[in-house]
Amino acid sequence: MTGSGAVGCERRARRDPVGGPRGRRCAARNVVAVAACAAVGLGALVALQRSDAGAATREALLARVSGQRAYQHVLALAGKIGPHVAGTPEDRTSGQYIAAALARDGYAVEWQPFTFPYFAVRMVSLAVSSGPAPPLHPRVLQYSGATPAGGVTAEIFVAGLGRPEDFAGGAASGKVAVIERGGATFKAKAEAAAAAGAVAAVIYNAQPGEFSGTLGSAVRIPVVGLSGAEGQQLVAAAKAGRVAVHLNVQAANEPRTTWNIIATKPGAREPHRIVIVGAHRDTVEGAPGANDNTSGVAVALDLAEILKNVPLPSTVRFVFFGAEEEGLYGSAYYVDHHGPDPIAAYVNLDMEGVGRRLMISTYRGSDSLVQTAARLASELRIPAIVGRDGGSDHINFERIGVPVAFVFRPDDPYYDTPKDTVDRVDPSLLEVSERLALAILLDTAGAPQ
Ligand SMILES: [Zn+2]
Repeated sequence: MTGSGAVGCERRARRDPVGGPRGRRCAARNVVAVAACAAVGLGALVALQRSDAGAATREALLARVSGQRAYQHVLALAGKIGPHVAGTPEDRTSGQYIAAALARDGYAVEWQPFTFPYFAVRMVSLAVSSGPAPPLHPRVLQYSGATPAGGVTAEIFVAGLGRPEDFAGGAASGKVAVIERGGATFKAKAEAAAAAGAVAAVIYNAQPGEFSGTLGSAVRIPVVGLSGAEGQQLVAAAKAGRVAVHLNVQAANEPRTTWNIIATKPGAREPHRIVIVGAHRDTVEGAPGANDNTSGVAVALDLAEILKNVPLPSTVRFVFFGAEEEGLYGSAYYVDHHGPDPIAAYVNLDMEGVGRRLMISTYRGSDSLVQTAARLASELRIPAIVGRDGGSDHINFERIGVPVAFVFRPDDPYYDTPKDTVDRVDPSLLEVSERLALAILLDTAGAPQ
């Protein structure tokens, strides 16, 4: 509300009754204007009342945020269901839990199916078969091929960095290529080995320790990683004489279907303007995912509950993405099939329950929403750090030019591990993340009607 002419004029009229000269001029002029002023004033008053009501409702809504209530979703998903990897039965079960919670709040729930490359290791072993040797601890690279059941035994071929020229002369054919990490992608090295006729590839770290990695997409031959220390041992043994190994990799590597779960809250005034809150709903193998990412799912579910009966000007959509851990597949599919209505803003919730620091980030795109969020955080006295971070579903929204705010807590040493358990998630941290997310939502979708 600005101190515009309308208000000034009315206030002036009230101050100076009709009797006085100025009053008369004003009265004469005002006879005409008063009707208009009254209309404007009334509109302004209504707007004032509405915004006061809106502000009051905003405060009331912010006060309704409950970390304890959100935490119940963490207990149900990570505690009761446990690890829920995309494409597995637990993926459907956790999806049903989310859909039921949204339906209980009165939302129409959509299951948006899509396929993605599912990969899971059933077993892996690698041992020197040509003589005594210390045990080896292989890790299968994501999207690796499998050996025949029972495994394969073959001589190793030391192939440097695994560039095509390292395989010149065909000496790798029928052998297991041993390749040092670095200089090219795992996929390029594996494909060079396969093209040279190798039956498998072992990539060892350039550092002494172990590593895990992905090939990005399916490769025909089995590919495992070894620590730098164990890789160096193999190479040294091969320099001293012929070394043969037995490798067994059993893995599922196939397209599978999963779902984005979507609940829409139609806008009261601008139904074609869409504001989205998203959280991925899958975990990695073996991880209950209490913080990554049932904490984000829980915050989004609690937001949906708080707003279930609150009309907002723009449409708000809550989207629970599938297969984020495999490669952001759910958000990519969602963005590519979103339809004509413009997405005005995207708020990404991923890891909200562990670690004091709270970040508000974008990746490479516009930081307009991040700046809005930072302002709201300071208004709410929520300490937050503005940054640039990738690694989650907001990247796909940036790809189509949507302003994003990635709200997350970066300090969790145990995410994506079996130690990501419910006891580590702090409900009071969920509450703070949720309050900020709600403020961003109300700021972008418009004040409650
Ligand atoms: Zn995550």
